Amino acid sequence: MIVLDGKQTAAEIRAKLKNDVEGLVKKHGRSPCLAVILVGEDPASQIYVRNKERACEEVGIHSRAFRLDADTTQEKLEKLISDLNASDDIDGILLQLPLPSGLDPLACQLLTSPGKDVDGFHPENMGRLTMGMPGLRPCTPAGVMAVLERYDISPAGKHAVVIGRSNIVGKPMAMMLAQTGPLANATVTICHSRTKDLPGICRQADIVIAAVGRPKMVKKDWVKPGAVVIDVGMNRTDEGLCGDVDYEELKETASAMTPVPGGIGPMTIAQLLVNTVEAYKNHMNA
Ligand code: NDP
Repeated sequence: MIVLDGKQTAAEIRAKLKNDVEGLVKKHGRSPCLAVILVGEDPASQIYVRNKERACEEVGIHSRAFRLDADTTQEKLEKLISDLNASDDIDGILLQLPLPSGLDPLACQLLTSPGKDVDGFHPENMGRLTMGMPGLRPCTPAGVMAVLERYDISPAGKHAVVIGRSNIVGKPMAMMLAQTGPLANATVTICHSRTKDLPGICRQADIVIAAVGRPKMVKKDWVKPGAVVIDVGMNRTDEGLCGDVDYEELKETASAMTPVPGGIGPMTIAQLLVNTVEAYKNHMNA
């Protein structure tokens, strides 16, 4: 089985990006700048934000953190987003989720300028994805597509089964796989909690993408021999971090598979950097 190494692929993407950013800074006289908003003290979010800041630094993207108290009002948060939308120094805006209860993430996503929406969650960017138009793409599914490309796994003509239909992973993932173009053109089935005979549907797949949030749910007898398995899941259990796929069981069956950790997690951060540079280029008309 081929291990689809997201850590290594993400490092390659960052190295290329670093080079691109150096050229862009020479041309435009300033670095790309990402605003990162963190509300409250959620420990996992603090780690994610620190990792994103570190990754930005590595490729020459300037990151500016805006840390707000957990009791921040919706009004204050929206005022910050509006100010960042209007700021000529800011190219991308990332609002770290989840927000403390009482704050409305959708209202914030709708308010974020689509050109600075480096998460790719704004309906305009989602609409652009659906219509095959250029736009900022949601980072996790874009990271999955980049891993498939890196390992020359073409989805064209294959049956891809996506387990999960969230707006941030499952739905955009299905849309990317079903796009026209040499790196897509899959036939896609979207599964969710109401799907009947999920194992039976998965067994028909050439590519299984699990984005569920259920530790080790996808078992050996769910996957046909030789299938490619992408594990998006990040579940914290007593035994540590694990995916939605039972990696140990599937190693004998899959032809290629992403590990957890070291798979789609680092790819998601790499794609955030790609999106920030894309937003910067659009902003500078480069
Ligand atoms: P959501 O909870 O928003 O969505 C989960 C999806 O899985 C839903 O569509 C749900 O169905 C479906 N589902 C839940 N239980 C079952 C089941 N028993 N059988 C079939 N389908 C089921 O999660 P996200 O999409 O945000 O995240 C999914 C996973 O990916 C999580 O583990 C998350 O931590 C991880 N993740 C990893 C990232 C990374 O960087 N690697 C980034 C983002 C997420 P329904 O719609 O019917 O409720």
